[in-house]
Amino acid sequence: MRIVVDRGACEGLGMCEAMAGDFFELDDDDVMRVLDEAPAERHRAHVHAAVQACPVLALTLEG
Ligand code: SF4
Repeated sequence: MRIVVDRGACEGLGMCEAMAGDFFELDDDDVMRVLDEAPAERHRAHVHAAVQACPVLALTLEG
C-alpha cells in the first residue's frame, strides 16, 4: 500500500494529521508531509480513514 498526495489539491487543512498523526504531519507553513509513504498492511484501516477524511480529496491509496 502506498500513500499518494495530489500536491496541487492539498490545502494543508490537516484532517489527515488529525486522523493519523503517525503518517501525516503539517509543518509550520501548513505544508503536509507524509511520514511513512508505504505503511505496513496492518495500518490500512487507520490510513484509509485519514485518506477518506481529506476534504479536498488530495489523498489516494495505491495497492
Ligand atoms: S487533509 Fe487533505 S488537504 Fe488537508 S493536509 Fe491532508 S491531504 Fe492536505
